[in-house]
Amino acid sequence: MKNIVLILLISLTSACTSAPKGKGKSKSEGSVKKGKLVNGRRFSRKKDNYKYFSFLSYILFNRAWVHSKVLNITLDAYKDCKVKYPKRKFLIMECSNKKGGKMWPHRTHQNGTSIDFGSPLLKNKQPFTRDHNYGLRHYAMKFDANGKLLRNPKIEIDFEMMAQHILALEIAARKRNMFVKKVLLKINLKNDLFKTKSGKLLKKKNIYFAKYLQPIVDNMHDDHYHIDFGFVKN
Ligand SMILES: [Zn+2]
Repeated sequence: MKNIVLILLISLTSACTSAPKGKGKSKSEGSVKKGKLVNGRRFSRKKDNYKYFSFLSYILFNRAWVHSKVLNITLDAYKDCKVKYPKRKFLIMECSNKKGGKMWPHRTHQNGTSIDFGSPLLKNKQPFTRDHNYGLRHYAMKFDANGKLLRNPKIEIDFEMMAQHILALEIAARKRNMFVKKVLLKINLKNDLFKTKSGKLLKKKNIYFAKYLQPIVDNMHDDHYHIDFGFVKN
């Protein structure tokens, strides 16, 4: 018991440090469906305008790991968002295990190139971030086809902000010889996204959104959007 408390205390202390963890040259092997991660980086638990959504996922399951380039792309995009929207806060959800591999219940997330991002929300048209404290329950939030939260329609997805964020990720990725390879968003929410000002730009840039998702997968992708990053082949 003492040991467990000690481990938790050490983890807590290291989780509070602001620098990302990990060293060496990162390597994403195999695919997001069957792969592994070598020398990944772990996001800080909380910094500037973003945080990782769950203490349990971060400390106990240790799922905040990505390829170093993916980490830097994500941080660059948040910096960009901070300049444009200094008051907005963003949410990172599950990434990969420290060494990649299977990560229940996700079918992908295996090689450090996948990230789930919490959908930016509004309440009465004002930024809303109470969901940033929901922890793992965040995945259970349910929205209707217009992006309104089922149990409280005053809370809705901010599709313009979501589009801005994906654009910022794509721009940051291209600078690092990577790109936004695939976005998973609930099929009936894609129109809401594409009809925003920045959503139209997303479409123009030809960023690939999954066209069909099995119902069980589709239903998961409303409170968050999943992104796989790809490496540009020279
Ligand atoms: Zn995912």
